[in-house]
Formats: sequence, C-alpha cells, structure tokens
Amino acid sequence: MRRAAVLGGSIAGLLAARVLSDHADEVVVLERDDIAPAGDFGDGRDPRPGVPQGTQMHALLDAGRRGIEQWFPGFSAEIVAAGAAHADTGAGVHSYLDGRRKVLVGGVEMVSATRPFLEAHLRRRVLALDAVRLVNGRVRGLVFTGDRVTGVRYASGAGASGAAGTSGASGAARTSGTSGTSGTSGDDVLDVLDADLVVDATGRASRIGAWLGEAGWPEPALRRMHVDLGYATALFRRSGGPHEATLAQSLAMLPDGRLRLGTLGRVEGDRWVALVAGYADDRPGRGVAEFLRRCADDPAEPFRQLAADGEPMGEPVTYRHPDNRRRDFHLLKRFPAGLVAVGDTLASFNPIYGQGMSSATMHAACLADYLASGPSPRDPAWSYFKRTRAVVDDAWQTSALNDLKLPHVTGPRPRGFGVASRLSDLIVRASVTDPVIHRRFLDVMHMLSPARTLMRPGTLLRAARAVRRQDLPAAGAPLDTTV
Ligand SMILES: Cc1cc2nc3c(=O)[nH]c(=O)nc-3n(C[C@H](O)[C@H](O)[C@H](O)COP(=O)(O)OP(=O)(O)OC[C@H]3O[C@@H](n4cnc5c(N)ncnc54)[C@H](O)[C@@H]3O)c2cc1C
Repeated sequence: MRRAAVLGGSIAGLLAARVLSDHADEVVVLERDDIAPAGDFGDGRDPRPGVPQGTQMHALLDAGRRGIEQWFPGFSAEIVAAGAAHADTGAGVHSYLDGRRKVLVGGVEMVSATRPFLEAHLRRRVLALDAVRLVNGRVRGLVFTGDRVTGVRYASGAGASGAAGTSGASGAARTSGTSGTSGTSGDDVLDVLDADLVVDATGRASRIGAWLGEAGWPEPALRRMHVDLGYATALFRRSGGPHEATLAQSLAMLPDGRLRLGTLGRVEGDRWVALVAGYADDRPGRGVAEFLRRCADDPAEPFRQLAADGEPMGEPVTYRHPDNRRRDFHLLKRFPAGLVAVGDTLASFNPIYGQGMSSATMHAACLADYLASGPSPRDPAWSYFKRTRAVVDDAWQTSALNDLKLPHVTGPRPRGFGVASRLSDLIVRASVTDPVIHRRFLDVMHMLSPARTLMRPGTLLRAARAVRRQDLPAAGAPLDTTV
C-alpha cells in the first residue's frame, strides 16, 4: 500500500499502525486530541479528553502483554524500568472471592500502570517507526470512489478539538496539502486524506455507521447490553496499603446481596491505583470518605489494609459504563472495500474483566494475518471480519455470561443460559482452591485460551470434585447429611 489511514490514536489505533507499517509506505494516524510529540511525553502522561476512561484503573492482561511484546520486543521491561509493575500470578497477583484468597498459581503475567503512562510509552514506540506519523485532526466522514473507501475527511486546527463546525450542511472544500484531494462536508474547512486502507479505531462511540449510511451503505447492527456499571478510581501513596501483593482483585457479595468489585495495583510514581465498582443503585459516589468506606466494606484483606493506612493522593474520579456494545460487521450483506475497524469500535465489554486492550491487540493480530494473506484491494475485508468475530465472540461470551447473571441486566438470555451460568459458577468456586482449575480459569480470563475450554468434561468434573471437597466439613466436625 502507498498509504494507510488509522482513525484514532489510542491503544487499538497505535497497534493497528504498527501492523500497517509492515505493509504501507506511509501510515497516518489521525487523532482529535493534540497529543504531545513522541519522546517528550509532556501532557501525554495525563488522562486526555478523547479517552475519558483513561482516568480509571487499567491492567494489561497476559494476551495484551504478549501481543505488544511481539511487536515491540522489550516493551514490558522498558515500562517496568520506568516504574510500571510486573507481576506473575504465582506470586504478586492476589485474587479474592468473597474475601477468600484463591490458591496462587503461576505462569500468567500482568502489567500494572496507569492508562496514560501505558499509552504514552506505546505511542512513543509506534511513532518511532519511519512509516508512521501522527496528525491532529477530527475525522468527519469517509471518501468513497465506487465500491471502495479511498480516504477520509477531517477537520484540523480548532475543528479537531471539536470547537468549530460540528453541524450544518454548508461545508467548505479545501485542497488538502496532505493528499492533494478536495472534500466538502460540515461547517468548517475539511482536509481530505486519501488512503488505500482506512482503519477505524475511534472507539465505542465511533460514527462509522453514520458515515456508511450517509453514502448509502448499510450500517452495521449495534448490539447493546445495558449493565449500568459504576467505577471510581483513586491514587494512593505506596507507603500505605497491602505489603505482599503487586495486584489484587476482589469479587464479593456483601451480606445484603450487593455485588462489589475492586482492583488495586502498584503503578509508576511509587503509587497504588485502586478501583471500586458496583452496579445500578450501588455505583460508587464521589469523595475520599465514600471510597475508603467501600474499601473497608470489601472482605478482601488488601482493600481493608488500604482503607486502614492508605494515603490518598487527591480525589477519586468516577466513571459510568452504561452498556457493553458490539458492531456486527460480519452480518452485513454489502460493505465497501478499503475499510476495517479495530478495538472498541468492534466491541467494548464490561471493563471489569480488563479485556479491552488485549482484544485490541488480538484485532491487530487479525489485521496482520489478513494483510499477510494478500487480499485483493478491490474486495471488502470479509475474511478480516471473520477473524475478528472469533475474538469478539469469545470475549463477549465471557462478559455477557457473567453480566446476564446480574438481576438488573435484562436479556435476551441465550439458549442454555441457566446451565452455562451454573457451570461457570462451579468453575469460579473451584478456582479458589484447585490450582489446575485456577490456571485454566486464568488462561481464559487473560485471553490465552478460548472460553469454551472451561466447559470440557474433564475440567467440569475436576471442578465439581474440588467444590465438593470445599463443602466437606473440617476433620472432626459433625457431618451435615441434609440435602
Ligand atoms: C472504565 C474502563 C476501564 C477499563 N479498564 C481496562 C483494563 O483494565 N484493561 C484493558 O485492557 N482494558 C480496559 N478498558 C478498555 C480500554 O480502555 C479499551 O478497550 C482500549 O482503550 C482500546 O480502545 P480503543 O483504542 O479502541 O478506543 P479508545 O481508547 O476509546 O480511543 C479512541 C481514540 O479515537 C479518538 N477519536 C475518536 N473519534 C475521533 C475522530 N472523529 N477523529 C479522530 N480521532 C477520534 C479518541 O480521541 C481516542 O484517542 C477499560 C475501559 C473502561 C471504560
């Protein structure tokens, strides 16, 4: 390819740009936020407006860590040297179910850092590639030539920040210095960038459906599952909090039936980042006192320690995640050539499972695989969407199966949901004490194995035995024979 355009310069866009740099003379990443240049992170270390979830706890699961490492050898070591924490599940990652710490089992690795830090390091590596450059611009639409997407229209300058011309039909055309092609749309002057392949990485609020619709193409169905999850994330000084764990995760049902989730991890700058989460009416509110109260309510030891002696650094930041969503491109009957989507544009799940950045890594792997197969530029990228569908289905299944168990989440529940739900509960319970089940569970949660591997008869049988042993009274205690 002569030029590829990536729309959005966050995790998914950066990884796609890395893959495209092997196939295109030039890769242009169009990003609406004016990000500090590579090498000098500047404000790049702070959460930025285009990625509002950047204020919240982000952990990099093993599939994502391995994927990034494959494209950027030494990445993990580099960020650990700069202050991020690395942990193996056999030592530093402590998982709790209802306050009980799960048996430690090694071999799965995680990285803990703040989201802006992680992104800034990835950006620096990507922008160091000769073929890749970052352009500050807000994409407003696609350019079509026959049945192909051949470029994008974007606003630069004040228009990129959203300050100018977001509505109206009387657009001014400008011959773009970037591509030499003219374009018309919107109130402000738009530049046009032509490209042989356009990759949409603008995230869960992508306007790709509208852009396709405006040109008479069918829009991909947007499937939503309303979960109404509330997050609050706070930073603490390293001096307080748990002493043994590098990362701690807790899932607990409080005595009154409320489901509480929490994660905390060591991050750069000698700090802890801590997250507390709850659903619907039980979403966390603002303020340090409320945050610490929720930590104290958590039966897992690390959260109690944090509540007891943690030193908060500023106010917690809340975030609301209303729904999980996916765009089913594979169901479309017609689709233009020269266009694909990656990352949250394809699917964005319940963040509590932490699979978003790893999914983006796997979408990038699908893109690499697709491009290596030598596809015709005249055909729609159906085989790319077939590849990503497998990734999306698997993560969706993990997220949806658990989310549908929540009383406030309405269906539709898939066929066999009742049985699948009971079997997944069995696995989770068994993972507390059985190292083999815990490792298989971790492999699925870290996206190293497909979710269906947990439903193998041998695994279920082993899990049932492990749970039965948990239910047996301790030696010497009276045996309860009631059914
Ligand atoms: C609360 C929360 C916690 C999370 N925690 C984790 C976690 O622990 N681990 C994990 O792996 N994942 C986590 N995720 C998911 C993760 O944030 C995303 O999956 C990941 O950032 C990949 O997203 P993306 O790059 O596709 O989109 P985004 O990160 O949303 O980025 C989209 C980019 O496109 C740009 N953009 C948008 N529109 C335009 C336009 N018109 N023109 C130009 N640029 C545009 C934006 O400015 C932004 O840079 C979490 C998500 C949330 C909401």
